[in-house]
Amino acid sequence: MKTIKIKNSNKEITIGKIVCVGRNYAEHVQELGNTIPEKPVVFLKPVSSVIYSGDEIVCPAFSNDMHHESELVLLIGENIKNADLEISENAITGYGIGLDMTLRDVQSELKKKGHPWTIAKCFDTSTVLSEFIEKSAYQLSLDETISLKVNDEFRQKDQLNKMLFKPAEIVQYISTLMTLEKGDLIFTGTPKGVSKVVSGDKLVAQLDGLIKLECSVR
Ligand code: ZN
Repeated sequence: MKTIKIKNSNKEITIGKIVCVGRNYAEHVQELGNTIPEKPVVFLKPVSSVIYSGDEIVCPAFSNDMHHESELVLLIGENIKNADLEISENAITGYGIGLDMTLRDVQSELKKKGHPWTIAKCFDTSTVLSEFIEKSAYQLSLDETISLKVNDEFRQKDQLNKMLFKPAEIVQYISTLMTLEKGDLIFTGTPKGVSKVVSGDKLVAQLDGLIKLECSVR
């Protein structure tokens, strides 16, 4: 069992499942040579892959090309299924930043074979989470900027309003595929600028001045 912490409070929430969408920023879709999807691309990450700000990311021996993907993460606060947009928006109760660490070399091979991305996305330490802010304390406008620095240099920096599918639309769509439950997390896709990290790199992701995540690669 793993939990997330709410910033400036003692609250801890047990993580349910982690649902991710891919290809949600046009320029990132283009940098990987993919096509813009009509519906969000959806995949899962296991809770066992979760680490937190301050922890170390470990690249497995079967990859030589681990990429960072910095993403806005939504916290789901109630159980919903086949929800409309309003219910979907109301089901989002908090926001965090996450790193969806990805083995790009492994993923490329899996894509060629038409296989699921599991081996590229689910390894231990592949999901890094910040503290979360509650929606009751901060209402996201999507004018916020998500950024990621590696060793003090910006690699990713984009406004959230570049998302092709907005948070409520993502939640609405996923709720037609599976029940979303209190404590579930949703990764909303990464902006352009994904790149390789190696041992010793220090990663700092931020959502404006609201939330910050820091970790290093072992
Ligand atoms: Zn991702």
